[in-house]
Amino acid sequence: DRIVSPVVAGDEQAVEAALRPKRLAEFVGQERVREQLSLVLQSALRRNRPPDHILLSGPPGLGKTTLSMIIAAELGKPLRITSGPAIERAGDLAAVLSTLSEGEVLFLDEIHRMARPAEEMLYMAMEDFRVDVVVGKGPGATAIPLDIAPFTLVGATTRAGMLPGPLRDRFGFVAHMDFYEPAELEVIIDRSAGLLDVRIDAEAATEVAGRSRGTPRIANRLLRRVRDYAEVRADGRVTPELARAALELYEVDERGLDRLDRAVLGSLLRKFGGGPVGLSTLAVSVGEEPETVEVVAEPFLVRQGLLARTPRGRIATPAAWTHLGLTPPTPSPA
Ligand code: ATP
Repeated sequence: DRIVSPVVAGDEQAVEAALRPKRLAEFVGQERVREQLSLVLQSALRRNRPPDHILLSGPPGLGKTTLSMIIAAELGKPLRITSGPAIERAGDLAAVLSTLSEGEVLFLDEIHRMARPAEEMLYMAMEDFRVDVVVGKGPGATAIPLDIAPFTLVGATTRAGMLPGPLRDRFGFVAHMDFYEPAELEVIIDRSAGLLDVRIDAEAATEVAGRSRGTPRIANRLLRRVRDYAEVRADGRVTPELARAALELYEVDERGLDRLDRAVLGSLLRKFGGGPVGLSTLAVSVGEEPETVEVVAEPFLVRQGLLARTPRGRIATPAAWTHLGLTPPTPSPA
């Protein structure tokens, strides 16, 4: 429920769908991935064959689902969407695979969370467009081979490192998606503003982009909140002042840190002199579970160069002191 969460919120799906770019040319940023993907797709179209299986890897909210839809659109083929956690048994996967049409694109989100037996079935399907459906149990069980239509698997994962080697090796193309530059987020914000009929000044778009943690999903969410603010408190046009006031109200600072991030950092500086301090102690000091601090707050603080994880505990960097407007303690003379 954090406004800066990279994960989709329950009520956000419809508006997200409306904001998705439909073709590769509309997809902003990720220059290298776009160019590589464009080649893979164009070559497949020329050969009139399904392209190699594609793995999209990267943090949430960077556009993996969007890209899978674009891949299907560029190939002119239907898209089937499912996810690792939805496939609990090999039979679940067999049911999906056996009903694919020729050339269909199968998007398998969170592929690293698929059940083991399904994973093994997927190896064979990817390689030979065939699955063995096991009928019966125990010594009498028989495997019945079943041909499936040639398809393209688009797998998405936030943890490429967690994929078993044999699965990773069966993808002909792996696209590594990285956080977006503020300038790219600005273009995304402008584009979304157009689609949502929001008037936003260039400088206000810059302001929102800078606080969006490199993530289009967050940029689009912050845009909607500054729009609300401008509509209710002014005439609807998002000026830089209104954008700043709205983001202050939602407690998202100039670097995109929210209240939890600042609480963790503030405690590390004020109560522990910048560290080193152990994770559990730090978590208790802000009234959170260690896991929340470690998984929700820390990765972004580390990426921002504000906090470091060391074997002796968490330490703040000089940039952390500056960011919170505090002065580091002067080391006492030896
Ligand atoms: P998750 O893994 O959490 O499902 P995701 O990586 O699949 O996230 P998407 O759902 O594709 O992310 O994108 C989130 C939102 O950000 C969508 O509304 C999408 O339109 C927008 N978006 C993502 N990437 C871009 C982009 N390059 N250009 C424009 N909009 C984008």
